[in-house]
Amino acid sequence: MEIVILAVVIAVVALGAISGLVVSSRKKKQLPPAPPSSPSVTAPPAEPHVGEEAEPPSAEPRRTVEEVELPGAGAPVAEAEPEAPAAPAEPEAPAAPAVEVPEPTAGRLVRLRTRLSRSQNSLGKGLLTLLSREHLDEDTWEEIEDTLLTADVGVAPTQELVERLRERVKVLGTRTPEELRALLREELLTLIGTDADRSVHTEPGVGVNGEEKPGVVMVVGVNGTGKTTTTGKLARVLVADGKSVVLGAADTFRAAAADQLQTWGERVGARTVRGPEGGDPASIAFDAVKEGIAENADVVLIDTAGRLHTKTGLMDELGKVKRVVEKHGSVDEVLLVLDATTGQNGLVQARVFGEVVNITGIVLTKLDGTAKGGIVVAVQRELGVPVKLVGLGEGADDLAPFEPEAFVDALIGD
Ligand code: GDP
Repeated sequence: MEIVILAVVIAVVALGAISGLVVSSRKKKQLPPAPPSSPSVTAPPAEPHVGEEAEPPSAEPRRTVEEVELPGAGAPVAEAEPEAPAAPAEPEAPAAPAVEVPEPTAGRLVRLRTRLSRSQNSLGKGLLTLLSREHLDEDTWEEIEDTLLTADVGVAPTQELVERLRERVKVLGTRTPEELRALLREELLTLIGTDADRSVHTEPGVGVNGEEKPGVVMVVGVNGTGKTTTTGKLARVLVADGKSVVLGAADTFRAAAADQLQTWGERVGARTVRGPEGGDPASIAFDAVKEGIAENADVVLIDTAGRLHTKTGLMDELGKVKRVVEKHGSVDEVLLVLDATTGQNGLVQARVFGEVVNITGIVLTKLDGTAKGGIVVAVQRELGVPVKLVGLGEGADDLAPFEPEAFVDALIGD
């Protein structure tokens, strides 16, 4: 009998000790400000929005349960649980980091028009000057042709344009500068195309399980073209348009890419899903879309690695990322990022990527640093896909939706 009583006393003391441990371990955890969240694939930035304090408390008790379960005692958990609300978390809520408000997207190209000054002088104004010559002899037409070729318009489009210009100038007879400008504007617009759908498709759809799925955009291209920067800038474009965005850092090839992307995301309050360095890009992309679905985001942007080691390697990697993401539902847009300053090289890249993955839109970066604005025409011809966005500088809001009219007006002046 005494032994039984002794055993009960020991049990009670032990119980008290364990629950005391649980409470103190919880208290210890709650004291430091904002504990880092789970070290798994998802490493979200400090979320500046409402409701974040709900997350740490809901994660903590779960960890406590696991700790308590280890010694094999289930009962104390029930006792420990009710004490959870006792720890007041409110006063510790960290001040939300300032989230930037990106500039509206409408009219960006107009704002950035002066950045095209190199293309402006050599392509637009160059052509106008040549066409204004009193005698349009063969040499002049050759110069016009050279101007177009030098600006990377491409051989076939150059010949088409020169032919059309020849015809129309003949019909026109005497030419006033205004007439010439109008004529050139019209012909350049025809060459670039005004009917294409240049919107970036980001509309939410229905996932494989019938749930609402965010619009999914994959950003592909050779490293160094400005892919990660463009993904970050695009997040800003979308946020500026009132959308919520989740970023997937699936460029695990370049060491700093994930940090870079996360920084872009934090600036506009977008969560970044990332994995270990050198991790599997497809699984990060998969998790990013999963996260997008879970937090009901409007759009998930996935930055990918663009190693042009071999075409099959690239095909395997990008193909796999796409296939794996499609387990959630459709990929709505595949944007190819090309550096406008690389000329023919860019066109070769376009060709290879076009064979590897179904490109739905082109982003031309660094148009601010080149006289070769004609690449817009050439690359569209090469891929049969429209240029949707253009990069005109390193500033956060220097990515503009591509508008043919504004572009041509910038080239030839109003
Ligand atoms: P990634 O390897 O393709 O992801 O390349 P990054 O995004 O890191 O960009 C490479 C460099 O290009 C960075 O220094 C960017 O700031 C720069 N860059 C990207 N877009 C533009 C642009 O439109 N204009 C200019 N001038 N620089 C750009």
